[in-house]
Amino acid sequence: MKKLSAKIKEATYENVFVECPYCKKENIYNRVSDLGTIMPISMDVFCEHCKKMFWMTGDLAPYARYRWFMYDLHRLKNNKSYGLYILALCQACEIFMSQAIINKLFDKNAKYRDEEGRFCEKDASGAIINVGAEAYNKVVEEFYENTLTSVVRLTDLYI
Ligand SMILES: [Zn+2]
Repeated sequence: MKKLSAKIKEATYENVFVECPYCKKENIYNRVSDLGTIMPISMDVFCEHCKKMFWMTGDLAPYARYRWFMYDLHRLKNNKSYGLYILALCQACEIFMSQAIINKLFDKNAKYRDEEGRFCEKDASGAIINVGAEAYNKVVEEFYENTLTSVVRLTDLYI
């Protein structure tokens, strides 16, 4: 029997909605608990109703993560979940601002670029010690850890 495929009809930050090509019932897959990734996907899945396997494709996950929360808004508004609507909107703003800070501090900063324009990590003397995506992830993770530690220290003063 030939395996069928189905196009994802809606994708949000948290879930993917797709209709099973065999039984025509809607399946909701959580990106983390069901699919095991938050990256855009095309993969084999089992229908939660008829248990048949089909190929799910056409993920709408945009690269800009803040937009994922925007995709949830119409569903929340239609369900009259106004509190969650505001929360999702705030999360979109938070991620947008976070990404803007990363862009300003690291992506557009010549301090983190080698002579070919690749992202790099430098030591205190300015010597390049790491290049590429691994360097980028390390520098950004250290920034978040140091920033969060600073915020925790500040809140400790007022509690
Ligand atoms: Zn099915």
